[in-house]
This record gives sequence, C-alpha cells and structure tokens, in this order.
Amino acid sequence: MIMESTLYDIAIIGGGINGCGIARDAAGRGLSVFLCEQNDLASGTSSASTKLIHGGLRYLEYYQFRLVREALREREILLRTAPHIVWPLRFILPHHRGLRPAWLIRLGLFLYDHIGGRKILQGTSRIDLRHDERGKPLKKQFNIGFAYSDCRVMDSRLVVLNCMDGAAKGAEIRTRTKLLTATRTGQIWHLRLLDKVHDTEFQIRAKVLINASGPWLNELLTHISHSATKEQVRMVKGSHIIVDALFTHDHGYIFQNEDSRIIFAIPFENRFTLIGTTDLDFDGDPGRVSISAEETDYLCDAASEYFIKKITKDDVLASFSGIRPLFDDGRSEAKAATRDYVLKLDRGTGEAPLLSLYGGKITTYRKLAESVLEKISAFFPEMGPKWTEQHQLPGGGFSPDNFMGEVQKFREHMPFLPPESATRLFRTYGSRVYQMTSSIKSVEQMAKPFGHDLHPFEVDYLIDNEWARCAEDILWRRTKLGLFFSPDQEKDLENYIRQKQGAT
Ligand code: FAD
Repeated sequence: MIMESTLYDIAIIGGGINGCGIARDAAGRGLSVFLCEQNDLASGTSSASTKLIHGGLRYLEYYQFRLVREALREREILLRTAPHIVWPLRFILPHHRGLRPAWLIRLGLFLYDHIGGRKILQGTSRIDLRHDERGKPLKKQFNIGFAYSDCRVMDSRLVVLNCMDGAAKGAEIRTRTKLLTATRTGQIWHLRLLDKVHDTEFQIRAKVLINASGPWLNELLTHISHSATKEQVRMVKGSHIIVDALFTHDHGYIFQNEDSRIIFAIPFENRFTLIGTTDLDFDGDPGRVSISAEETDYLCDAASEYFIKKITKDDVLASFSGIRPLFDDGRSEAKAATRDYVLKLDRGTGEAPLLSLYGGKITTYRKLAESVLEKISAFFPEMGPKWTEQHQLPGGGFSPDNFMGEVQKFREHMPFLPPESATRLFRTYGSRVYQMTSSIKSVEQMAKPFGHDLHPFEVDYLIDNEWARCAEDILWRRTKLGLFFSPDQEKDLENYIRQKQGAT
C-alpha cells in the first residue's frame, strides 16, 4: 500500500515502452521506483507500432548509422531475452526499376548485415521472384528482389513484460493513474495524482522525475512547475490497415513508394496482412487518433502497386493509428525527422532533476533506459551496474532456436489443447503458460471460451498478473483476439471481468 507522500528515488510518468523499460532497469539496480500510467499500459503509441524490432534500413539514407547500428544490435539481444514475443522475420524487398538502383540497395543491405554484430539472424540473399513462392502474389514486373532479416515483436506485450519484471524487483506500478501536477521544492518533487478507478487523489514525492509521456510530453510539461525544458515533441502520425491474408508464406514485404517512403506488408495473427505506415504531422489530442480516408487510400494504393490483387478500402477489416513522439530536429518533412532518442535534463543548481525523453523506437527502448540511468547516476552513487542485456523477460527462459520444441513440450503437458491454441499461448506467454494453466488438467476444467480460444483461465491470469482491467485491455493489448470477437462476445467478457473485480 502507498502511504501518502511516500518518497521514491524516481517517479516515471508514462506506461509506454520507454517508461516501463526504465522502471524495470532502475528497480533492478536497487532504486525505489514509482510509475504511473493514465490509462492501460501501452495504451499510447507503444501498441500502435508496425511491431518490428529492426535496424531501420531506410534510416541509412539519412546517415543515421549510430541509430541503425544500435538497433541492429538490440535485435539479437531482444531475440535472446524475449524469444516468445520476438521472432525472426524475413523481408522481401522487390526491386523497382524506376526507384533506388539495385547497387544502392545492395550496399544498404551489406551495411545492414555487417554493422550490427549479427550472429543469430540469417544474412541477405538475392531472389528470383519469377521462380519463387514469395514472388507469386506480386505483379510480374517485379522479377528480382532481396531477402533480408529483421524481427517481429508483440509490442504491447513487451511493455507489460517489462512492467512485470520491474514490479517483481520492487517497482510500484500504478495504471489508470494520471499525474495532475508536479511541483519542485528544492531537491524533492511533489506529485499530485488521480487514481481514476477509485476517483481519488493522492500524493507522492520523488528525487528525480522522468517525463516518459511520449506524445503527451509537451502537454505534461505545462503541469510541471518551474520546467525550463524548451524543446518540442514533433508529433508524427502513422496508421496501419489490416486486410485478409494476401499471401500464405511467413515472409513480410518492404515496398518502396514513389514518394521515396517505404511501407511494410507483414503476416499478422495467422489470417491477416498488416500494411503500414503513413507519416503525417499531427497537432491534435494524441488520445484521439484514427486513420483518415486519405491514409487508407494511400496505403491501399501503395500496396496495390506491388500485389496482383488490387486492395481497396472495402478490403480493410481494421485499422489503428499512433503518434510518434519525435525530437523536433527542424527537418521539413515528417518522414525525415530523426527516429533517434534525445534526453533532456532540466535542473537548476541544487534542484531536483526532471528528465524528459524525446523520440526513440521500441527496438532501442532498452538502450534508452540505460542512457537515462547513466544520465541520473550522479544522483544515486549507490545504484547498481547495467544488467538487462543478459536477463530474460518473464516467460523467456529458453533458446530462440527452440521455440517449436518448447511448444511441443507444452502440447505434451496439455494434450487436450488444440495445436493452434497451444502455439498461441506459448507465443504470448512463453514459459509462464505453465503457471497460467497450473489448475487445468482436462478440457472440462477449461470452461467455455468467451470467443475464439480465450478461456477464463487466461483472463484470470491477465487480471491477476498483467494489470488487465477491461475487455479492451485483453482483446487489443494483452492479445489481439479482438480481431476474432463479436460485440456480444466482447460484452460477455466485459461482464465476467466486472464480476471478478466486484468479487475482489
Ligand atoms: P507511449 O507508448 O505513447 O507512452 C506514453 C504513455 O504516457 C501513454 O501510455 C500515456 O497514456 C501516458 N501518459 C501521458 N500523460 C500522462 C499523465 N499525465 N499521467 C500518466 N500517464 C500519462 N518502433 C519500433 O521499434 N518498431 C516499429 O515497428 C515501430 N513502428 C512504429 C509505427 C508507428 C505508426 C508509430 C507511431 C511508431 C512506431 N515505432 C516503432 C516507434 C515506437 O512505437 C515509439 O517510439 C514508442 O512506442 C514510444 O513509446 P513511449 O513510451 O515514448 O510513448
């Protein structure tokens, strides 16, 4: 229980990937940590990404070698430390005669293969799309292409797993809790917070305040007294569409557009293709962001340039949008603004510090957290050393090479589960499935699913262990089962969750 005005070493505002990554790292180094998130974990940008752990081939064109190198290195670290929710994804880059020349692409891919210390992932190869399964869904004019490696991630689950590990190491995680004001008196921050579930206010104190509110950063600064931070977040909107699967193999595509942007088409939740993204400056409320008709047309047209099937707005089954909270480096075009992270420390003489985070990628969140802790290390001389590179996230205690072997072991443990459900559960929770299913010994004990293959045991686990509080948390952030649920099924799930919460 939080005592009024408990004093923490650091208070973090924002439960996206960056806030949760810092909370985990800091708690593991022995600091006392408080994190608040105004809605659900990952309810901001961190659940609206393209879901790639990638170096960012395109950033090489902007000479962002530091960012690409760091991101490429992080790919293999995350693959090792979270092998359930991060997995290799091969991309096909069809060569487009009118756009970048083949030699330039080869050079980019050569650098991509060599600057990031690649060990696990396969290198680049050239493919003849005329005689390859991966060429079949594409128009005939695309006869050569390149295959290269990146990784897929369950973005919102990466956020939750960081929080779980942080909490296990002592961090206080408060979801549905909004920072109202922060006032600095000398060496202490005084925070006034709103617990939105109980509609009550409470206060805490902290030695260091970290503004990890992503696209809300500028707005939040207006609630923080004596802030001298002058830099601005550049809000850049990006949207995705989901359509029925356009191909059956497990590779993704990266397409070059005539506006020199790129879009991805990647296999999604076994039955769909995810297409994205756009890059548009945005100046509205980051909490109310959705795809526009123009963005839908742009994505349909861009993908239709490559796929034989013409994709139209009628094919769109679902969409989602997010705001990139980028550092405003003065570039004129949104697509050119740096994706690198920038940390700004705001501290008068003898005053408690405020650290604000700009930009960053899901891919580099772990390095961002290390940089934040390095930046504030002078205030905590007793703080422990870096540790997250070698430590697995919850559920990740196995080798990335052996995912299917682990699924097989789980299937033998629960032979009555349909194979697709066993795979989905292991992909989502890794070795934590054993804890989740510990009381289930037969089909009868699983009880009727709410929809698709979501059974009460999974819902109970998510409520008890992963801060889930409503159907949307479970259907769109802890899982993506919302794609398979009808409104009535969602209502039944919501009623069950309400009853369970009433009972506790
Ligand atoms: P957020 O996830 O937005 O978290 C900030 C949180 O702060 C929010 O949850 C918000 O509710 C909370 N908050 C705000 N104000 C308050 C308050 N007063 N009190 C309490 N809480 C508050 N990166 C990759 O590595 N790979 C990709 O494939 C990729 N694709 C992308 C595609 C798109 C379209 C976009 C938009 C981004 C993509 N990114 C990708 C970038 C990545 O998603 C973001 O950099 C990252 O999610 C930002 O995380 P964050 O924690 O800074 O912000």
